Amino acid sequence: MNKIILLNKRPVGKPILSDFKIITEEIPVAKEGEILLKTVYVSVDPYLRGRMNDAKSYVPPFELSKPIQSGIIAEVIDARNIDSFEKGDFVTGNLDWKEYQISTGKGLRKVNESDAKLSTYLGVLGMTGLTAYIGLTEIGLPKEDETIVVSGAAGAVGTIVGQVAKLLGCKVTGITGSDEKAELLKSKFGFDHVINYKTTPDIEQAIKKACPNGVDVYFDNVGGEISDAVLANINKYARLPVCGAISLYNETAIPVGPRIQPIIITKSATMRGFIVGDFFEKFPAATKQLTIWLKEGNIKYSETIIDGFDNIPQAFLDLFEGKNEGKMIVKI
Ligand code: NDP
Repeated sequence: MNKIILLNKRPVGKPILSDFKIITEEIPVAKEGEILLKTVYVSVDPYLRGRMNDAKSYVPPFELSKPIQSGIIAEVIDARNIDSFEKGDFVTGNLDWKEYQISTGKGLRKVNESDAKLSTYLGVLGMTGLTAYIGLTEIGLPKEDETIVVSGAAGAVGTIVGQVAKLLGCKVTGITGSDEKAELLKSKFGFDHVINYKTTPDIEQAIKKACPNGVDVYFDNVGGEISDAVLANINKYARLPVCGAISLYNETAIPVGPRIQPIIITKSATMRGFIVGDFFEKFPAATKQLTIWLKEGNIKYSETIIDGFDNIPQAFLDLFEGKNEGKMIVKI
Protein backbone atom coordinates (compact mmCIF):
# COMPACT_ATOMS: atom_id res chain seq x y z
CA MET A 1 0.00 0.00 0.00
CA ASN A 2 0.96 3.63 -0.55
CA LYS A 3 1.03 6.17 2.30
CA ILE A 4 0.09 9.82 1.84
CA ILE A 5 0.16 12.78 4.25
CA LEU A 6 -2.67 15.28 3.92
CA LEU A 7 -3.30 18.67 5.49
CA ASN A 8 -6.10 17.73 7.89
CA LYS A 9 -6.65 21.12 9.57
CA ARG A 10 -5.15 24.55 9.12
CA PRO A 11 -2.87 25.09 12.15
CA VAL A 12 -3.78 27.83 14.57
CA GLY A 13 -0.56 29.12 16.13
CA LYS A 14 2.00 26.36 16.54
CA PRO A 15 1.15 23.37 14.31
CA ILE A 16 0.28 20.07 16.03
CA LEU A 17 0.29 16.46 14.81
CA SER A 18 -3.48 16.32 14.34
CA ASP A 19 -3.18 19.08 11.70
CA PHE A 20 -1.86 16.25 9.51
CA LYS A 21 -3.47 12.96 8.49
CA ILE A 22 -1.87 9.81 7.08
CA ILE A 23 -4.00 7.81 4.65
CA THR A 24 -3.29 4.74 2.54
CA GLU A 25 -4.27 3.82 -1.01
CA GLU A 26 -3.17 1.44 -3.74
CA ILE A 27 0.25 2.11 -5.21
CA PRO A 28 -0.44 3.85 -8.54
CA VAL A 29 0.64 2.41 -11.90
CA ALA A 30 2.47 4.49 -14.52
CA LYS A 31 0.75 4.91 -17.88
CA GLU A 32 2.34 5.82 -21.23
CA GLY A 33 4.43 9.00 -20.87
CA GLU A 34 4.58 8.73 -17.07
CA ILE A 35 7.08 7.68 -14.42
CA LEU A 36 6.44 6.04 -11.06
CA LEU A 37 8.50 7.59 -8.29
CA LYS A 38 9.49 6.14 -4.93
CA THR A 39 10.29 8.81 -2.36
CA VAL A 40 13.75 8.57 -0.83
CA TYR A 41 14.29 11.86 1.08
CA VAL A 42 11.78 14.55 2.11
CA SER A 43 12.78 18.10 3.03
CA VAL A 44 10.83 19.77 5.82
CA ASP A 45 11.13 23.55 5.82
CA PRO A 46 9.85 26.41 7.98
CA TYR A 47 8.25 28.15 4.96
CA LEU A 48 5.74 25.29 4.67
CA ARG A 49 4.04 26.77 7.74
CA GLY A 50 2.97 29.80 5.68
CA ARG A 51 1.45 27.55 3.01
CA MET A 52 -0.74 25.93 5.68
CA ASN A 53 -2.61 29.22 6.21
CA ASP A 54 -5.46 30.11 3.92
CA ALA A 55 -3.74 33.31 2.85
CA LYS A 56 -2.54 34.76 -0.41
CA SER A 57 1.25 34.62 -0.70
CA TYR A 58 3.98 34.08 -3.25
CA VAL A 59 2.87 30.43 -3.52
CA PRO A 60 -0.72 29.19 -3.24
CA PRO A 61 -1.78 27.72 0.12
CA PHE A 62 -2.00 23.95 0.59
CA GLU A 63 -5.54 22.71 0.21
CA LEU A 64 -7.33 20.94 3.04
CA SER A 65 -7.46 17.13 2.65
CA LYS A 66 -4.86 17.30 -0.13
CA PRO A 67 -1.23 16.13 0.11
CA ILE A 68 1.40 18.51 1.44
CA GLN A 69 4.32 19.13 -0.90
CA SER A 70 7.97 19.95 -0.38
CA GLY A 71 11.37 19.33 -1.90
CA ILE A 72 11.82 15.60 -2.41
CA ILE A 73 14.43 13.20 -3.79
CA ALA A 74 12.82 10.20 -5.45
CA GLU A 75 13.88 7.15 -7.43
CA VAL A 76 12.30 6.35 -10.78
CA ILE A 77 11.07 2.79 -10.35
CA ASP A 78 9.07 2.57 -13.58
CA ALA A 79 9.23 4.65 -16.78
CA ARG A 80 6.75 4.20 -19.61
CA ASN A 81 7.93 5.60 -22.91
CA ILE A 82 9.13 8.88 -21.52
CA ASP A 83 12.13 10.78 -22.79
CA SER A 84 14.78 11.89 -20.33
CA PHE A 85 13.99 9.47 -17.50
CA GLU A 86 14.69 5.83 -16.99
CA LYS A 87 14.32 3.28 -14.25
CA GLY A 88 17.00 3.77 -11.59
CA ASP A 89 17.33 7.56 -12.10
CA PHE A 90 17.10 9.82 -9.07
CA VAL A 91 15.19 13.07 -9.41
CA THR A 92 14.47 16.13 -7.28
CA GLY A 93 11.54 18.49 -7.37
CA ASN A 94 8.58 19.80 -5.45
CA LEU A 95 6.53 16.64 -4.91
CA ASP A 96 3.69 15.32 -2.76
CA TRP A 97 4.24 13.77 0.65
CA LYS A 98 3.55 10.27 -0.75
CA GLU A 99 5.65 7.13 -0.61
CA TYR A 100 4.90 6.50 -4.29
CA GLN A 101 3.60 8.92 -6.91
CA ILE A 102 3.14 9.32 -10.64
CA SER A 103 4.74 12.17 -12.58
CA THR A 104 5.11 13.28 -16.17
CA GLY A 105 8.59 14.51 -15.23
CA LYS A 106 7.55 18.17 -15.48
CA GLY A 107 9.51 20.31 -13.02
CA LEU A 108 11.83 17.43 -12.07
CA ARG A 109 15.61 17.52 -12.34
CA LYS A 110 17.86 14.48 -12.43
CA VAL A 111 20.46 14.25 -9.67
CA ASN A 112 23.48 12.05 -9.61
CA GLU A 113 24.62 10.08 -6.59
CA SER A 114 28.17 9.96 -7.93
CA ASP A 115 28.43 13.79 -7.90
CA ALA A 116 27.21 14.35 -4.34
CA LYS A 117 25.32 12.57 -1.57
CA LEU A 118 21.64 12.54 -2.62
CA SER A 119 20.40 14.34 0.49
CA THR A 120 22.66 17.33 -0.23
CA TYR A 121 20.41 18.25 -3.19
CA LEU A 122 17.81 19.24 -0.55
CA GLY A 123 20.31 21.21 1.53
CA VAL A 124 23.68 22.68 0.71
CA LEU A 125 23.28 22.01 -3.06
CA GLY A 126 19.53 22.62 -2.99
CA MET A 127 17.10 25.33 -2.05
CA THR A 128 18.62 26.26 1.32
CA GLY A 129 22.20 26.45 0.05
CA LEU A 130 21.09 28.64 -2.86
CA THR A 131 19.12 30.86 -0.49
CA ALA A 132 22.17 31.37 1.69
CA TYR A 133 24.61 32.04 -1.14
CA ILE A 134 22.34 34.23 -3.25
CA GLY A 135 20.81 36.18 -0.35
CA LEU A 136 24.24 36.95 1.05
CA THR A 137 26.06 37.77 -2.18
CA GLU A 138 23.26 39.54 -4.09
CA ILE A 139 21.65 41.47 -1.22
CA GLY A 140 24.16 41.36 1.66
CA LEU A 141 27.00 42.42 -0.70
CA PRO A 142 29.68 41.60 1.88
CA LYS A 143 33.14 43.10 1.53
CA GLU A 144 36.39 41.79 2.98
CA ASP A 145 36.87 42.63 6.67
CA GLU A 146 33.22 43.57 7.15
CA THR A 147 31.19 42.22 10.06
CA ILE A 148 28.28 39.88 9.36
CA VAL A 149 25.63 38.71 11.80
CA VAL A 150 23.38 35.77 10.91
CA SER A 151 20.42 34.58 12.98
CA GLY A 152 19.11 31.03 12.76
CA ALA A 153 22.84 30.42 12.41
CA ALA A 154 22.90 26.66 13.05
CA GLY A 155 20.18 25.83 10.54
CA ALA A 156 20.31 24.83 6.89
CA VAL A 157 20.56 28.40 5.58
CA GLY A 158 22.51 29.90 8.48
CA THR A 159 25.42 27.44 8.48
CA ILE A 160 26.05 28.16 4.80
CA VAL A 161 25.67 31.94 5.16
CA GLY A 162 28.34 32.00 7.88
CA GLN A 163 30.80 29.89 5.91
CA VAL A 164 30.35 31.83 2.67
CA ALA A 165 30.91 35.07 4.60
CA LYS A 166 34.10 33.63 6.10
CA LEU A 167 35.30 32.57 2.62
CA LEU A 168 34.73 36.16 1.50
CA GLY A 169 36.96 37.40 4.32
CA CYS A 170 34.33 38.67 6.76
CA LYS A 171 34.05 38.42 10.53
CA VAL A 172 31.02 36.33 11.40
CA THR A 173 28.78 36.27 14.45
CA GLY A 174 25.99 33.72 14.63
CA ILE A 175 22.90 33.68 16.83
CA THR A 176 21.43 30.33 17.83
CA GLY A 177 19.41 28.60 20.55
CA SER A 178 21.75 26.16 22.29
CA ASP A 179 25.30 25.88 23.62
CA GLU A 180 25.87 22.67 21.63
CA LYS A 181 24.95 24.45 18.40
CA ALA A 182 27.09 27.44 19.39
CA GLU A 183 30.09 25.18 19.94
CA LEU A 184 29.56 23.45 16.60
CA LEU A 185 29.30 26.77 14.76
CA LYS A 186 32.71 27.73 16.09
CA SER A 187 34.49 24.38 15.86
CA LYS A 188 33.07 22.95 12.63
CA PHE A 189 31.86 25.99 10.69
CA GLY A 190 34.49 28.57 11.69
CA PHE A 191 32.21 31.29 13.12
CA ASP A 192 34.15 33.90 15.10
CA HIS A 193 31.49 34.48 17.77
CA VAL A 194 28.18 32.86 18.62
CA ILE A 195 25.41 34.16 20.88
CA ASN A 196 22.91 31.78 22.50
CA TYR A 197 19.72 33.86 22.39
CA LYS A 198 17.99 31.60 24.94
CA THR A 199 20.56 32.16 27.69
CA THR A 200 21.85 35.68 26.91
CA PRO A 201 19.93 38.24 28.95
CA ASP A 202 20.88 41.27 26.82
CA ILE A 203 21.33 40.27 23.16
CA GLU A 204 21.88 43.86 22.03
CA GLN A 205 24.86 44.22 24.38
CA ALA A 206 26.18 40.77 23.45
CA ILE A 207 26.19 41.79 19.77
CA LYS A 208 27.93 45.06 20.62
CA LYS A 209 30.63 43.07 22.39
CA ALA A 210 31.01 40.44 19.65
CA CYS A 211 31.01 43.07 16.88
CA PRO A 212 33.11 46.00 18.17
CA ASN A 213 33.15 47.58 14.68
CA GLY A 214 29.37 47.39 14.33
CA VAL A 215 27.31 45.23 11.95
CA ASP A 216 27.68 45.73 8.18
CA VAL A 217 25.43 42.87 7.04
CA TYR A 218 22.60 41.26 8.98
CA PHE A 219 21.27 38.08 7.35
CA ASP A 220 17.91 37.70 9.07
CA ASN A 221 16.41 34.21 9.33
CA VAL A 222 14.23 34.73 12.40
CA GLY A 223 12.78 38.26 12.76
CA GLY A 224 11.28 39.46 16.06
CA GLU A 225 13.23 40.49 19.13
CA ILE A 226 16.52 38.93 18.01
CA SER A 227 16.45 41.11 14.90
CA ASP A 228 15.53 44.19 16.95
CA ALA A 229 18.72 43.64 18.95
CA VAL A 230 20.86 43.34 15.81
CA LEU A 231 19.29 46.41 14.23
CA ALA A 232 20.38 48.49 17.20
CA ASN A 233 23.99 47.69 16.22
CA ILE A 234 24.05 48.31 12.46
CA ASN A 235 26.59 50.55 10.76
CA LYS A 236 26.07 53.26 8.20
CA TYR A 237 25.21 51.68 4.80
CA ALA A 238 24.39 48.32 6.41
CA ARG A 239 22.65 45.74 4.21
CA LEU A 240 19.94 43.52 5.68
CA PRO A 241 18.77 40.57 3.56
CA VAL A 242 15.48 39.52 5.17
CA CYS A 243 15.33 35.81 4.42
CA GLY A 244 13.02 34.38 7.07
CA ALA A 245 11.02 35.24 10.18
CA ILE A 246 10.52 31.90 11.90
CA SER A 247 9.96 33.53 15.30
CA LEU A 248 6.77 35.05 13.87
CA TYR A 249 5.38 32.23 11.69
CA ASN A 250 3.16 30.84 14.45
CA GLU A 251 1.93 34.17 15.83
CA THR A 252 -1.81 34.63 15.62
CA ALA A 253 -1.59 38.42 16.07
CA ILE A 254 1.28 40.46 14.64
CA PRO A 255 3.46 41.58 17.57
CA VAL A 256 4.56 45.21 17.64
CA GLY A 257 8.25 45.91 18.11
CA PRO A 258 10.41 49.01 17.95
CA ARG A 259 9.63 51.32 15.02
CA ILE A 260 12.63 50.72 12.76
CA GLN A 261 12.30 53.54 10.24
CA PRO A 262 14.55 56.05 12.10
CA ILE A 263 17.46 53.63 12.33
CA ILE A 264 17.12 52.58 8.68
CA ILE A 265 17.16 56.28 7.69
CA THR A 266 19.94 57.48 9.96
CA LYS A 267 22.14 54.51 9.00
CA SER A 268 21.29 54.81 5.29
CA ALA A 269 20.65 51.07 5.56
CA THR A 270 19.11 48.80 2.94
CA MET A 271 16.67 46.21 4.20
CA ARG A 272 15.39 43.88 1.49
CA GLY A 273 13.16 40.85 1.71
CA PHE A 274 13.63 38.16 -0.89
CA ILE A 275 12.40 34.80 -2.10
CA VAL A 276 15.13 32.62 -3.53
CA GLY A 277 12.95 31.84 -6.56
CA ASP A 278 13.23 35.53 -7.55
CA PHE A 279 16.83 34.75 -8.47
CA PHE A 280 16.21 31.71 -10.67
CA GLU A 281 18.69 32.89 -13.30
CA LYS A 282 21.46 32.86 -10.65
CA PHE A 283 20.91 29.19 -9.71
CA PRO A 284 23.41 27.58 -12.13
CA ALA A 285 26.34 29.82 -11.16
CA ALA A 286 25.50 29.60 -7.45
CA THR A 287 25.21 25.80 -7.59
CA LYS A 288 28.53 25.61 -9.42
CA GLN A 289 30.29 27.71 -6.78
CA LEU A 290 28.77 25.79 -3.86
CA THR A 291 29.71 22.47 -5.50
CA ILE A 292 33.31 23.61 -5.94
CA TRP A 293 33.57 24.76 -2.32
CA LEU A 294 31.97 21.53 -1.12
CA LYS A 295 34.36 19.35 -3.14
CA GLU A 296 37.35 21.40 -1.96
CA GLY A 297 36.21 20.99 1.64
CA ASN A 298 35.82 24.76 2.04
CA ILE A 299 32.15 24.36 2.90
CA LYS A 300 30.85 21.84 5.38
CA TYR A 301 27.27 20.94 6.11
CA SER A 302 25.19 19.32 8.81
CA GLU A 303 22.05 17.27 8.36
CA THR A 304 19.55 16.01 10.87
CA ILE A 305 18.12 12.88 9.26
CA ILE A 306 14.93 11.44 10.73
CA ASP A 307 13.85 7.94 9.69
CA GLY A 308 10.42 6.95 8.42
CA PHE A 309 7.58 8.37 6.34
CA ASP A 310 5.20 8.61 9.32
CA ASN A 311 7.66 10.94 11.08
CA ILE A 312 7.51 13.70 8.44
CA PRO A 313 4.96 15.84 10.38
CA GLN A 314 6.91 15.52 13.65
CA ALA A 315 10.15 16.47 11.88
CA PHE A 316 8.39 19.56 10.55
CA LEU A 317 7.08 20.49 14.04
CA ASP A 318 10.58 20.01 15.48
CA LEU A 319 11.92 22.86 13.33
CA PHE A 320 10.03 25.25 15.60
CA GLU A 321 11.67 23.68 18.66
CA GLY A 322 15.18 23.97 17.23
CA LYS A 323 15.66 20.19 17.27
CA ASN A 324 17.55 20.23 13.97
CA GLU A 325 21.19 20.98 13.38
CA GLY A 326 21.69 22.00 9.76
CA LYS A 327 19.19 20.67 7.20
CA MET A 328 16.21 18.74 8.54
CA ILE A 329 15.49 15.78 6.23
CA VAL A 330 13.32 12.68 6.53
CA LYS A 331 14.65 9.45 5.03
CA ILE A 332 11.97 7.10 3.79
P1 NDP B 1 16.54 25.96 9.89
O1 NDP B 1 17.32 24.78 9.43
O2 NDP B 1 17.27 27.17 10.36
O3 NDP B 1 15.53 25.45 11.01
C1 NDP B 1 14.81 26.31 11.79
C2 NDP B 1 15.62 26.82 13.01
O4 NDP B 1 15.05 28.05 13.43
C3 NDP B 1 15.55 25.93 14.22
O5 NDP B 1 16.50 24.90 14.21
C4 NDP B 1 15.76 26.90 15.37
O6 NDP B 1 17.14 26.97 15.71
C5 NDP B 1 15.32 28.24 14.79
N1 NDP B 1 14.12 28.73 15.47
C6 NDP B 1 12.95 28.07 15.63
N2 NDP B 1 12.07 28.84 16.29
C7 NDP B 1 12.71 30.01 16.56
C8 NDP B 1 12.33 31.22 17.22
N3 NDP B 1 11.11 31.38 17.75
N4 NDP B 1 13.25 32.21 17.32
C9 NDP B 1 14.48 32.06 16.79
N5 NDP B 1 14.90 30.95 16.14
C10 NDP B 1 14.01 29.95 16.03
O7 NDP B 1 15.60 26.43 8.72
P2 NDP B 1 16.08 26.91 7.28
O8 NDP B 1 17.54 27.13 7.29
O9 NDP B 1 15.51 26.02 6.27
O10 NDP B 1 15.37 28.32 7.14
C11 NDP B 1 15.84 29.44 7.88
C12 NDP B 1 14.93 30.62 7.61
O11 NDP B 1 15.04 30.98 6.24
C13 NDP B 1 13.46 30.31 7.85
O12 NDP B 1 12.85 31.44 8.45
C14 NDP B 1 12.90 30.06 6.47
O13 NDP B 1 11.54 30.33 6.38
C15 NDP B 1 13.76 31.00 5.65
N6 NDP B 1 13.91 30.62 4.25
C16 NDP B 1 13.66 31.60 3.31
C17 NDP B 1 13.85 31.36 1.99
C18 NDP B 1 13.61 32.47 1.02
O14 NDP B 1 13.59 32.22 -0.19
N7 NDP B 1 13.45 33.69 1.51
C19 NDP B 1 14.24 30.02 1.50
C20 NDP B 1 14.57 29.08 2.56
C21 NDP B 1 14.38 29.39 3.89
P3 NDP B 1 17.66 27.47 17.17
O15 NDP B 1 17.94 26.22 17.94
O16 NDP B 1 18.86 28.26 16.85
O17 NDP B 1 16.54 28.25 17.79
